[in-house]
Formats: sequence, C-alpha cells, structure tokens
Amino acid sequence: MTYRAPRASIDPDTGKSWLRRALPLVVAHRGMLLTSLVLSFVGLVVQVQIPDVVRLGIDHAIVGRNGHLTRYVAGVAALAVAQGVINYLARRYLLRTAYEIEYDLRNIMFAHLTRMPFGFFDRVQTGELMSRSSSDIRAVQMYLSFGPSILVQCTIAGIAFVLMLSINVPLAIVAMVTMPVIGVLGVTMRRAIFPVSWLIQARLAGVATVVDENINGVRIVKAFAAEGRQLNQLAEAADGVRWAYVTDARLRSRWSPLIENLPRLGQALVLLAGGWMVLDGHTTVGTIVAFNTYVLMLQPPFRLLGMMIMLGQRAAASAQRIYEILDTRSDVEPPAHPVRGRLHGDIEFAGVRFAYPNGTLALDGLDLRIGAGETVAVVGRTGSGKSTLGRLLARYYDADAGTVRLDGHDVRELDLPELREQVGIVPDEPFLFSISIRDNIAYGRPEAGADEVVAAAVAAGADEFIRNLPDGYDTVVGERGYTLSGGQRQRLAIARALLVNPPVLVLDDATSAIDVTVEQRIHAALRTLMRGRTTIIVAHRLATIGLADRVVLLDAGRVVAQGSHAELLATEPRYARVLAEQSRRPDAEPGAGGEPGGGGAEPAGGSGASGAPAPRPGGQAREVTA
Ligand code: ADP
Repeated sequence: MTYRAPRASIDPDTGKSWLRRALPLVVAHRGMLLTSLVLSFVGLVVQVQIPDVVRLGIDHAIVGRNGHLTRYVAGVAALAVAQGVINYLARRYLLRTAYEIEYDLRNIMFAHLTRMPFGFFDRVQTGELMSRSSSDIRAVQMYLSFGPSILVQCTIAGIAFVLMLSINVPLAIVAMVTMPVIGVLGVTMRRAIFPVSWLIQARLAGVATVVDENINGVRIVKAFAAEGRQLNQLAEAADGVRWAYVTDARLRSRWSPLIENLPRLGQALVLLAGGWMVLDGHTTVGTIVAFNTYVLMLQPPFRLLGMMIMLGQRAAASAQRIYEILDTRSDVEPPAHPVRGRLHGDIEFAGVRFAYPNGTLALDGLDLRIGAGETVAVVGRTGSGKSTLGRLLARYYDADAGTVRLDGHDVRELDLPELREQVGIVPDEPFLFSISIRDNIAYGRPEAGADEVVAAAVAAGADEFIRNLPDGYDTVVGERGYTLSGGQRQRLAIARALLVNPPVLVLDDATSAIDVTVEQRIHAALRTLMRGRTTIIVAHRLATIGLADRVVLLDAGRVVAQGSHAELLATEPRYARVLAEQSRRPDAEPGAGGEPGGGGAEPAGGSGASGAPAPRPGGQAREVTA
C-alpha cells in the first residue's frame, strides 16, 4: 500500500482557535459528513412521528373504536423500519467520515514527524509521541465527526417539543420541566468526571512507558537483576491507573442513577397532570402515552449535551498537543533552490561551531579540509565531537556558526534527500528493521538486484555469516536486530551503506564491535571500495586508524593536530595519550566487550557455524600498525 496524502491539512495560523484550525479536515469530508447528518436528521423526524401515531391509534382505534387498529399498527411498524434503515445509513456514513478524518490526521502527523529534524527526536520521548499519535488523534476525530451528529440529535428535542406543543401546550410544558435539570446535571457530572478520565489517559500512557522501557531494555534489566525494581515501578504505575478508574467509577455511580431516573419523575409529572386533564376531559389517554414516550425520547439529547462538552474539552487539549508537534518547524530547512548532482566528496569545515539543542557544545570553531577521495581517520577522546562531524555533513543538524561545504557548496544549498543519499553514515549502533536481511541491506536502494546485495554483503564481510543463517538472506531479523550480534549488525549496516555507493562514507566507530580479523578482511575489501570515495573513519583501534591516509586529532570540538599516524605519534603527545587511553577501553580489545554475544565476532550459539573462524589474538591489532 502506498502512502495516500491526506485530503486536507491543519490550518497553520496559530492565532486561530483549535477548531477553526481543524476545520479544513472536516470540510474535506463534507460530502460524507453532510449525507450522514441529513440522514440522521430525517431518521429523527421519522422517530418523533411514532408516538404521535401511537396516540392516534389509542384515541381513535382503541378508545374511539373506529375499527382501523391494524392501520395504526402498520403505520408504527413502517415508521420503525424506515427509521432503522435511515439510522443504519447515517451511522455508516458517520463512522466512515470519522475514520477518514482519523486517517488523515494520522498521516498529517506522521508525515510531519518524518520531516522533523534529529534535534526534535533528541528532545521528545517515544512513549509520549506514541500516545499522542493515537489517543490524541482519536479524541480530536471523535469531536470533529460526532460533534455535529450530536448537535443534530439535539434538534430532536426541538422537533419533539414543537410536536408536543401542537398537541397540548400545558402538558408539553410539564413534560419539559425536568429536561433542563437533566442538562445541568449532565454537564455537572461531566465536569466532575472529566479530570479523572483525563488522568486515566495520562496514567495509562505512564504504564505504557514503563512496559515499553521494560521490554526494550529487558537485557539491561536482566543483566542488573533489576526485575524486582522494575516490577515495583510497574506496580506503582498500575496502582495509579487503578485509583483513577475506581474514582471514575465512584463518580459515575453517584451521578448516573440521578440522571437516569429523573425522566421517571418527568413521566410521573406527565401522568399526574395528564391524568387530571383526561379526567376533566381536556385531553385524551393517547396523549398521555405519547407524551410518556416523548419524555424518554427527549432525555438523550440533554445527556449528550454533557458528553459534547466533555468531548470538546478532551479534543481541545488533545488538539493543543497535536498542534504543538505540527507547529514545530524543522530547523533544518530544505533549500529554496537546491543544487543537485553527484558529488565528488570534497569536504570543508570552516570555523564550525555547533551546540546540540540541549545546549551541549560539540564543535567549537572546527576547521578541517578533506580532499575528494581521501581517507581520514578522526581520533579523539569520547565527547570530543567526532560523531558530530558526520551529522553536520549530512545535515542531521545545521551548524550554529561557520560553514560546512561539500564540493564548494554550503551543505544548506544542496538538495537534502540527495545530500543524505550521498553521505553514507554508518553508526556504531546501527538500527535494523524487523524485515529480512536482504531488505535491511537494500534499505537505501530497495530496487537493488540480489547480486548487488550479495556483493555489498561480501564487501562488508557479512556474506559468510548470512549464508549460515537458517534462511540465508531471507532470514527475518528480530526486533532491532537483537537476534544478531553487535558485530553482525555493524556488518549489515556497512553493507547497507555500501549498496547505496555514496561518494562520501562516514564510518562512525562502525567496526567497533567487529572482531579484528574480520575487520581486517572488511577493510581489505573497503580499500578497493574506498578508492575514489571520501571516507571519514571515526576510530580508536590502531588497525582501523591504519587504513587512513591522514589522522585528525580532535579535542573539545576542534582539530588540534593532523598528519600521518607516525608523525602524530612522534610529535603530538596528546595523540599518544588519547591512543593510550583508548586502548584501555574495553571495546578496544577485540572480543573483550565489543561482541555482546560473548563469542567474539559471532553470537554465542553461532560462532562455530558462522564464519569468523580465526582465533582472536588480543594485542595483534596494535602490533600490526603501531
Ligand atoms: P564523540 O563522537 O567524539 O564521542 P560526539 O560528537 O558524539 O563526540 O559528541 C560531542 C558532544 O556532544 C558530547 O559532549 C556529547 O555528550 C554531546 N552530544 C552528542 N550527541 C548529542 C545529542 N544528540 N544531544 C545532546 N548532546 C549530544
């Protein structure tokens, strides 16, 4: 199924009320909505006729004995059938409108989210986003589609009242006496219950967050034997939900009987006043029966009024939260007149200063030139800004000051999708989708042929282990790729980037979890592939650094030295210090911490079968290049 653009969008004018901003959505579906409203109105008119026919039947056929009882019965039955059919159609159209509006809202939200910059996702919580995109959309949809329908239903009160007036004015007034009370009680009840039902929503979202974190973080929870603590956390959240539900039920059980039984009082009043009138000969028995039905028929619209207010409040709050997201403009704006075309990969950072949205300064006056086709290793302490380089290059974020240039163009002038396609970034913790390995590799180029996918996998040193998986390239990866080892995931991510064949490749610690011997094989393949390609390698292993033509040393968001590995080692004490520090990092020792499967390059169960056959001499890597 392909994405169908929503039929309307939310009015971007933030000065307008939420309802007016959402109006285009309703207007886009006006045909269906109006059909449903007209039908429901006709249905109500038919419904209101029924008690009147019953009245005539009683007065003329039963009391008056005119001999036409069956005609009245047939009349009531026909009206009932007509009302049934009309209501069915009205409901169908209404629900369709409702779900079409919901579909549009969902698409508007999701399309907007896909355009949001990385900084936005740094700030928001996933659980919150999820809850916003479902319960809030539902709340707005309900009000937009059911609101008008409720209003139409309320007109039944007017129609019935007019009919009653035409039959008997004083009795009509008596019958209406309890209605305003029901209306006021309904509104008061909703006011009392609304905050609690709001709380229920919020607390349910809270439980969802706890559960979500527990499931996603299950490996950490188990590793630290924190199940007990997590259970307590869940119990607390669940208890909050329980309290809110119980309070809600208590309030409802206090109010509902009051509202539900008031109409009986109305019926009693009709019986009393109508009875006197019948005894005095001012009205008929049929009228009392008809009015009895009207009293019951009138009551739902007055109760719905309360519901309408509640729906309105909820929708207003939900709409505010949805708008909060929709009104967040992407700070990474696509250029008005984008420069297109294949890049050579000539990179220049000129006086680049950048702080993350939370204020952390990552790059502080960075100057760096990397010629097309060059391979540069970026080395530095954790937090020195190494990863940030690639992120600015691909415009995940924009620099606060200074310029990032590619082939002489400010990256902000380049066509954004093309830029991201041509700067391939392989992160150290790649994300895999729960789809087949083939599709994961071909993610950036779904149209790639099977042979190309295999070639990319071979270059990334992944082909061998993939073939050893039960279904080979068709093996469906578990959620987030957890069925694979860290090193295997990294190899798939490298294959994924290579398949796109970007002129600029950023390997951001992309081989940190890969066994050194496997890494050397990958790099042998990469060496060919890196030819003619600009490659930035964020690295801390000497074996990886050894691949580069030049080493750049970063410190506190600045280039502090650059040159060949040997030069830096000889002239730059800070370089030697950083290397020494990093060789002490657990993942600098291959097999010690990099491959979480416990068996070096492969997961525990698969090491025998899935390639990476060589033993892993711990210090070998350093000896190779140091
Ligand atoms: P390195 O790759 O050298 O370890 P980074 O470029 O990842 O360093 O980070 C540079 C600085 O920016 C660090 O202080 C880090 O904490 C901070 N940082 C990195 N990513 C983010 C982010 N998404 N939001 C806020 N701060 C970040």
